[in-house]
Amino acid sequence: MKRKHGSLSFHLTQILTGHGCFANFLRRIGKRADDSCDFCGERDSAIHTLRECPAWDWQRIVLKRVLGLNRDFAPIDIIDTIVGNWEHWYAFSAFTEEVMREKEEEERRRERTRAATSPSSEEEESG
Ligand SMILES: [Zn+2]
Repeated sequence: MKRKHGSLSFHLTQILTGHGCFANFLRRIGKRADDSCDFCGERDSAIHTLRECPAWDWQRIVLKRVLGLNRDFAPIDIIDTIVGNWEHWYAFSAFTEEVMREKEEEERRRERTRAATSPSSEEEESG
């Protein structure tokens, strides 16, 4: 049996290109009104997801330890280290799959909520 090492999965491609379930991209294609992160409220992007979002701190600690990334790593650093290293590749895949699944799950929740409530029924907060 031959393992296909190095082929990009759907989610891996999304996080490396930024074309995926990231609020800044969803806004660009007209699916979102703003680009704030569902998990922390900062501006969401592939870089935010990879490097900044506190929602993935734990997964990121594991990823950085395995790949030997420094604090301000860039996507190119990830590519440099996962190419030709199965263990690194696998760790990055695991991070990406877990994080992107969660983000897509949250996006589906948002869409359900949006479908269930009328857009003009926003409640005013008193205080
Ligand atoms: Zn975030």
